[in-house]
Amino acid sequence: MNNNEFYACRICGTEQLDPPWGVDGQTPNYDICDCCGVEFGYEDMSVDSIKVYRQKWVESSADWYRKKNKPQEWSLEKQFQNIPKQYR
Ligand SMILES: [Zn+2]
Repeated sequence: MNNNEFYACRICGTEQLDPPWGVDGQTPNYDICDCCGVEFGYEDMSVDSIKVYRQKWVESSADWYRKKNKPQEWSLEKQFQNIPKQYR
């Protein structure tokens, strides 16, 4: 992964095929994250809303939204390290 800043989900750190907030980091594409199920451009609008959504997701057992896309060996802790620092 070479550009966390633009390709990682701000909620859960999953790398996305397309940058969730565009190459300028300001143009959300309204895709759904396979992992945490956030819709880019809504629940990840601000650091506060990101933290609220992340906490709810973790508390509801951090299940994958699209379970078939979950990697075989998956670690929540490792993935969280991909979250850009300003959104942790
Ligand atoms: Zn996510």
